[in-house]
Amino acid sequence: MRGSPIGIICHGGAGTINDKQAAAEGLEEAIGQSYRLLRQSADAMQAVVAAVRIMEDNPVFNCGTGSNLTVEGRAEMDAAVMTQDGRFGGVCCITDVKNPILVAEKVMTETDHLLLCGSGAVSFAHKLGFEEFDVITERSRRRLEKLRQDGKSPYFPKLEKMMNSGTVGAVAIDKHVKLAVATSSGGITGRLPGRIGDSAIMGAGTYAGPSGAVSCTGHGELVIKMMLAKDIVERMKTLPASIAVTLGLSEAKRKKGMCGAVGFDARGGLCFGHTTKDMAYGYMVADRLFMFTKGKKG
Ligand code: ASP
Repeated sequence: MRGSPIGIICHGGAGTINDKQAAAEGLEEAIGQSYRLLRQSADAMQAVVAAVRIMEDNPVFNCGTGSNLTVEGRAEMDAAVMTQDGRFGGVCCITDVKNPILVAEKVMTETDHLLLCGSGAVSFAHKLGFEEFDVITERSRRRLEKLRQDGKSPYFPKLEKMMNSGTVGAVAIDKHVKLAVATSSGGITGRLPGRIGDSAIMGAGTYAGPSGAVSCTGHGELVIKMMLAKDIVERMKTLPASIAVTLGLSEAKRKKGMCGAVGFDARGGLCFGHTTKDMAYGYMVADRLFMFTKGKKG
């Protein structure tokens, strides 16, 4: 690759984008700030954590503040970070913290573990000084309320049709041509308490390896079954990123999976795609920003 190899690609969730303008603005801010960090020699992990943190603080996205609620009205969040050399940290069903991605990063850097869940993750965060924070917004309450009024059961057979998008993910390549990925999600509205989605499962919603790094969004159960992020990264061993993602998502589509993915291969080739009607995403490479809040079906 010639010139500066740095780049960042982010998604703001596959599914239905309610406010395209706000999603585009939120993505642009995250991409812009993390690209600036990369220019200032931040490594890929710092860049993806910074991008995801910005989106967690933006209530337009389904992660951190503004997360979707369980059927009991709690915000149980999943987040993970992974680097190309195989370091990983994640939290699932974490509550009452502002930035799950920062806790996930600490799991990676401060413990010998990979994944903490529920009350254990919360007390780990509080021990490290993360303050208690209420991430529930009126909008997320209304989404759950609407579902209740529609008389839907706690767990929907047609879950994919109900999806409010907004899970976020970021993949970066730094000046040393190293990759990292971070993903953060508030899950799916009305899910059962304790349900764990794909975002914090290594290989499912989040994966980085020698051949590339990918963040996924969409129907978590299918993404886990397919190990979609790893599937796409494995394909990058022999194929460019754009083809790898097309093949991975074609397989998902064959299984009627509603999902999307973004990533980079180890040579700096980027990729994006979705099987849903919409996916909010954008990227910045060679100092140029490209934004998409709507694209073709995958
Ligand atoms: N993948 C997330 C989950 O299933 C939801 C999403 O990406 O919209 O928890």
